[in-house]
Order: sequence, then C-alpha cells, then structure tokens
Amino acid sequence: MAEKSEAVREDMTKFWKEHAKDASLDEMMLMSGASAIDKKERPEVLALLPDIGGKKVLELGAGIGRFTGELAQEASHVTAVDFMEQFISKNKEQHGHLGNIDFRQADVTTLELPKNSFDVIFSNWLMMYLADEEILKLADKMSSWLKEDGFLFFRESCYHQSGDKDRTFNPTKYRSPAFYNALFQSAGSEEGGKNFGFEMIFSRSIQTYVELKNNQNQYCWLLHKTQQDTTANHGFETFQKFLDSRQYTRNSILSYEKVFGDGYVSTGGPETTEAFVAMLNLKSGQRVLDVGCGIGGGDFYMAKQYGADVVGMDLSTNMIEIAMERVVHNNGLKVQFEMADVTKRNYPPETFDVVYSRDTILHIKDKPVLFKKFLTWLKPGGKLLISDYCCGEPPHSEAFDKYVAQRGYTLCTPPEYGKLIEAAGFVNVKAEDRSWQFTDMLTKEKKWLHENKETFLKDHSEADYQGLMDGWTNKLVRVDSGNQKWGLIYAEKAAQ
Ligand code: SAH
Ligand code: SAH
Repeated sequence: MAEKSEAVREDMTKFWKEHAKDASLDEMMLMSGASAIDKKERPEVLALLPDIGGKKVLELGAGIGRFTGELAQEASHVTAVDFMEQFISKNKEQHGHLGNIDFRQADVTTLELPKNSFDVIFSNWLMMYLADEEILKLADKMSSWLKEDGFLFFRESCYHQSGDKDRTFNPTKYRSPAFYNALFQSAGSEEGGKNFGFEMIFSRSIQTYVELKNNQNQYCWLLHKTQQDTTANHGFETFQKFLDSRQYTRNSILSYEKVFGDGYVSTGGPETTEAFVAMLNLKSGQRVLDVGCGIGGGDFYMAKQYGADVVGMDLSTNMIEIAMERVVHNNGLKVQFEMADVTKRNYPPETFDVVYSRDTILHIKDKPVLFKKFLTWLKPGGKLLISDYCCGEPPHSEAFDKYVAQRGYTLCTPPEYGKLIEAAGFVNVKAEDRSWQFTDMLTKEKKWLHENKETFLKDHSEADYQGLMDGWTNKLVRVDSGNQKWGLIYAEKAAQ
C-alpha cells in the first residue's frame, strides 16, 4: 500500500510541475478556452457553498486562486494550500492585497493543521490527484480540522462505466461517485470521547459541464461534520446508511423496480405516475422538484412528456447512483439528480412550479416543518402533489405497529395529512383516501410477479422472489384490514 502511495506522489508531483510552468488558467484547468467555462462554473460552484460570511475557510489545492479571491471577499480568513510554488506565487500576486489570506505551499498528504480550526473546507479538483489511501487519510484529517458543525465541500471529475469520455490526463484518477460516497461515509475523527463523521447534505453534478460540454461526470459534495449518534437512526450512524443498508440496497431497488415498472420504486409505477402527473397541467419549462425521486422514472417522464425542468432529489446513495447512470441514456432531457436529505436541504424561496413526492414522506418524522419548506420553495400559484403511505384510524393491529416501527415510518391518516398541509399554509387542499387504487395496483403487481417468475429469477434469487411475494401479500392484508391506507394529496400555494 505504502509503495503505491509513494509512486502516486511521484507521478502527481511530476504531472503538476509540468502543468505549473506559466501558471495560467488554461494550463491549470488542463484545457484551452478555460475562461469561458470558468465564467459560468465559478458562480455555480460558489452558490453551492454554505454561508461563509465571517467564517474561517481552508482551501486545498487552491491553484492560482480561481476561488481564493472570491472566498476571501466573504470569509473572515482563508488558508490557501497548494504544492506548486508557481501557483502559490500567482495566487498571492493576485489576491495578497485582500490581507486575510494565508498562502501555504504544502502537499496536502503531509499537511498538518490544528484541530477544530475551520468552519468550511473547500477543494475543487484535488482528490483526483491523490491515491485512494491518501484520500482516506485526508478525509479523517479534514474531519479533525473542522469545527463541530463545520462543512466540507469538494468537487471532482468522475466517471461512470457508461461515459468515460474525459479520461485523457494520466495519471489523474477518475473514480465513480460511489467511491467518494462510500469513502466519506466511513471517514471521521474522535475528540474528547465523541465520534464525529460526515453527513451528506448533497451530492450533485455541475450543470455548467452538462450544458457546455455535455459532460455529466463533474460531481460535487457538501458534507457536514456531525457527531455520530447511532441511537437516533435505528442503530446506524446516519439515516442515509440506514436506508442504504436496509430497505434500499442496490439489489432490493432493482428487484422492486421489476415489480413496479421501469424507473419506479412506488405503487403503480408508470400507470399512477401518468394519471397523477396529468393533474398538474405541466407546461414546458416549468420547474419541478421531486422529493425522494428514487431511480428517477417519474422525472424522466415529466421531462420527456411535458418538457419540464426537473430536479430529482433523494437521500439514498444507491437510488441516486442508479438514477445518474440512466441520465446518460436520457440525453437532452432537463433532469438533474442530487443526493440530499430533504429535511436538511434548502432551496431558494419560490424556485419551483411544482413539488412532487411519491411514497417518500412516510420516512419523515417532522412533516409540519417539511410542508412549510415546500410552501417556501414553491412559486405563488405553485402546486403540490403527494402520494404516500398512510394509516387508518387507530387502534392498529400489533403486526402493523411492528411493521411501521421496523421500517422506521411515521404515518398519519389521509384526513390528518390534509390538515397538516392546510396548517402549513396551502390552499385548495384535497386529501383523498386512494386505498382502493393501492389494492388494485398491488393485486396487478403481485399477479405480474407470479406470472413472470422465470424472468425475475434471471437477475434475482428465489429468496428475493419470495420476499417480494410475501411483502405484497402482507401489504394487501394490511390495507384490507384497514390498518394501512394510501393517500393522494393535491394542494396549491395561493397566487399573489
Ligand atoms: N482548485 C483550483 C485548482 C484545481 S487544479 C481550481 O479549481 O481552479 C488542481 C490543483 O491541485 C493544482 O493547483 C495542483 O497543484 C493542486 N494539487 C494537486 N495535488 C496536490 C497535493 N497533493 N497537495 C497540494 N496541492 C495539490
Ligand atoms: N418516489 C420514488 C421512490 C419511492 S421510495 C418512486 O416513486 O419511485 C422512497 C424514497 O424516499 C427512497 O428512495 C428514499 O431513499 C427516499 N427518502 C427517504 N427519506 C428521505 C429524505 N429524508 N430525503 C430525501 N429522500 C428520502
């Protein structure tokens, strides 16, 4: 392992020495005509950062300071690190006058900094010049350098099996987003008997590259340093890990999809989606937020059928990875995916014409707060459409309570759902009990699975098959007994 790191260190240092000769923008960004890209992507990247006003920022791999100056305008102090002397000098020459920047020539793999000393760590195109084990070490160190509740933002060129276009610069390491997800999920630090780790706020692709270069493989992440609390998340460090390792493993997602239909992990798949989306009267160019988008079937549908401009967001790494893999086959559609926790993410007020969410909010405890956020994110006159698991009037059977607890769901009755939406400030609220449709769909889906067992078994095991059959049977029993219900909620934000 150590040997490999050393070889990487040598290659990377040599590579950057060759690309630091005249410390120009084109040379550093490894492209010609870099300034056109820079003009559009720099503001995009900066807008994705948390508020750095008055904060202490550490910038790693700062280069000639494309971001340093902008960061220093707002932050109280910036420490800008790069291992190329020419880059550091150019950066100093351009931004030294700001007076609140500490320029440091150092290799990040051997960098030492005091613990708990930064509010935000920023890096843009750095990890791709490090070996796996160097990133792992750096990730732990970054956790310790950050203050509690501090943020880490980083951006990397990645690649998917499917789109390997940009692999021209050896020895640069183009990894899959899944690599970074897994690595940062396992990174952390320990202080005073407390364990800290990173919680994902979001991960998404850089739109400038999608628009100007048709390149989907530029990804960025915003992570939050938090104390790991296994009691709050069903025995997992984060709710994300709970979702990824329990209900939504890659295998279970793909097996659910077989039953629900291509692109879907919720009741009725394409059939209910077509019917419900029709209620929205979508116009071309309207902006839709899909909360808990899963693998994105509904998003591709809204973009293809209505020309909508869709943001699909989901907390599950596995879901988003699959959705992103499929963007490549849906070129030209205005669909972007991001991995994020809707309870933590914030969009600017009045961003969307529609907030759409299918069978997702069952996972969310604090629904009143969530619905207030939806109202804020919607434009005046905007629409909200939700389908969700609900419960019947209590009392509930013991088996039902056990199922709900094991899944970690928070359910209410359809009328209660409507009241919560109204209380959040929505108008024209309709909350319907669609349990009949749920039963209809479940029956069809179960029949399909039974009749297509052979096809299903080509990709999945007998145990997967049995698990789904039992799952569908149990759902039918729960609905039939009145314990479980399925709600369809439509509401609007008052026009101004
Ligand atoms: N963040 C800047 C520069 C990106 S280019 C921007 O987005 O414009 C990558 C930068 O990382 C180069 O400046 C290179 O010198 C620096 N770099 C690569 N490996 C490094 C290492 N191990 N330690 C410090 N800097 C490194
Ligand atoms: N709406 C999709 C997926 C439904 S499955 C479809 O109809 O096919 C429910 C989804 O909610 C899962 O993908 C899960 O990861 C997501 N989810 C659960 N909690 C979430 C949260 N806090 N933020 C964002 N997504 C969440």
